[in-house]
Amino acid sequence: MPEQSKIWLSSPHMGGEEQKFVKEAFDTNWIAPLGPNVTSFEHAISTYIDNNVFTAALSSGTGAIHLALELLGVSAGDEVLCQTFTFSASANPIKYLGATPVFVDSEVDTWNMSPKLLREAIVDRIAKDKKPKAIVAVHLYGMPYNVTEITAVAKEFDIPVVEDSAEALGSTFKGEKCGSFGTIGILSFNGNKIITTSGGGALVTKDESIKNKAIFLATQAREDAPHYQHSVVGYNYRMSNVLAGIGRGQMLVLDERVAARRANYQYYYDNLQTIEEIEFLNEPEGSFSNRWLSCILTPSFKVREEIRLLLLEENIESRPLWKPMHLQPVFSGCASYMDGTSENLFERGLCLPSGSNLEKEDLERVVRIIKSKFL
Ligand SMILES: *Cc1c(COP(=O)(O)O)cnc(C)c1O
Repeated sequence: MPEQSKIWLSSPHMGGEEQKFVKEAFDTNWIAPLGPNVTSFEHAISTYIDNNVFTAALSSGTGAIHLALELLGVSAGDEVLCQTFTFSASANPIKYLGATPVFVDSEVDTWNMSPKLLREAIVDRIAKDKKPKAIVAVHLYGMPYNVTEITAVAKEFDIPVVEDSAEALGSTFKGEKCGSFGTIGILSFNGNKIITTSGGGALVTKDESIKNKAIFLATQAREDAPHYQHSVVGYNYRMSNVLAGIGRGQMLVLDERVAARRANYQYYYDNLQTIEEIEFLNEPEGSFSNRWLSCILTPSFKVREEIRLLLLEENIESRPLWKPMHLQPVFSGCASYMDGTSENLFERGLCLPSGSNLEKEDLERVVRIIKSKFL
């Protein structure tokens, strides 16, 4: 039998107009960072998220988090509270600045930062005379964190929030777009995200001066002088005008991509929810997830691995949920405020193929294999 075609977890999906904008960059010889595609891409993002926001297009989401933390005043010796259940890029930039992450566990309703544990963590750090400088909260897999409560706790203690919206472009909370809730929001356009520039990110803020400072730092902190003048350490984090052309094309199909990913989730839900051993994460009232990745919970680590390996045998890529940061060797020794939620999700959870370019037959194949394990 010929080998079955590979089904990827989440692969890039071009809309068709991208090459037109890239060609524009070539035709006008704007093969630089900066240029008309960057400006237009930033405008498209701002308009999409909220008319009141300003956007700086950058070379990665990780770079955007790095700049966000620096702009919020995080420096060596500080502590930053960070959702433990996330991808390492949420936490690594805390270390770039010589600061220390303090991890906070998730709530079962959203799989994101628990407002209750966040509050406990802040009270305890303050009692230890180490008031956290910032909070990194994440809309994991596209599901909004509890914006109302997280924002309220942050306000109560006057701590700024970096809203890691890398996986949640197109998601909304009470009708407003993710990316607009934090003191600073960040986006990612990495190859596996809901839209991609092959590599890239953005910083989003309602404060124009923060945006201007981000662009300043992202272009080597070069001051306005005919010679090159520098008073602070800068970075090379700006997005290239060629890649921003891909981004302009992708913005045209973003809502279609959200609809396609949500349809994947709905298909899995409709066809697997009758299996008692499988659980899904429903949207809490007021939340709209872009369903970047469709995830299921199995009864145990053992069953999760059996399903993952069954799929792998059939040339289908799936992946365990993110391994929490407080369990990662690189962050061992960091303080953490845990109740077991993220560890439990990591043990039992599996991300299924979720690309917006999956065919009906692909989804059928995945469902058939998972069903064969239970029925
Ligand atoms: C992808 C991702 C990032 C980082 O984005 P890059 O553009 O890959 O640097 C940050 N946080 C989360 C939750 C992500 O999934």
